[in-house]
Amino acid sequence: MKIMLVCSVCGSQSFIDKAVLWDELSTQWQLSPEERRYIDRQQGTACIACGANLRSIALADAIRSAFGTPLLLNEFVATVEAKNLSVLEINEAGLLSPTFRTLPKHTLAMYPAIDIHALPYSSNQFDLVIHSDTLEHVAQPVAALAECRRVTRPGGWLCFTIPTVVGRLTRSRDGLKKSFHGDANVSSDDWIVHTEFGADMWCAVLRAGYSACTIHSVEFPAALAISAQK
Ligand SMILES: [Zn+2]
Repeated sequence: MKIMLVCSVCGSQSFIDKAVLWDELSTQWQLSPEERRYIDRQQGTACIACGANLRSIALADAIRSAFGTPLLLNEFVATVEAKNLSVLEINEAGLLSPTFRTLPKHTLAMYPAIDIHALPYSSNQFDLVIHSDTLEHVAQPVAALAECRRVTRPGGWLCFTIPTVVGRLTRSRDGLKKSFHGDANVSSDDWIVHTEFGADMWCAVLRAGYSACTIHSVEFPAALAISAQK
């Protein structure tokens, strides 16, 4: 089913496609041509007007849904409600980061300088915790999500994205050849991929202590995001 794609950040309906995966990564991940196609869309298809790629648009959609707003993300961050939100962004969430930074009570934590397994914040502090394509680089994803939950106030939200291959189950890359995302020429150990998430990716959220989670689809299976309320 083809759905008209609308950018949930700015409202534009114009997109540009760019292939971003490279052969070595695709081979390491054992991606089929179809899986490679939709992960290329997730990362490389972007709004012409604001630059947000599909994964950022999915994240924006999850946030809008969490706060029950019909506004676009760009509009929502200008509201009094959003300006009162205490937001923790763990790693820059792509081109959405400048939007989040306009919020007065915004905190940016850069992993691994700040350890997602041991966040230096008190419990029940944030209304919203955000991360985008970070969890696959984390040694213990369930512990990291539990830590995100700890610093979230009761009733607050976690919204995040992870690259997901929906046709198979989550697998650890521990013991396999080191694989890195982001740039074919960069191989800092900080950005090693520990986990390739699959169709059971929601299990990590519930294992971390959340009692429910929602998977938001902007375009299935290329553009998914997860929200969970504490
Ligand atoms: Zn846009």
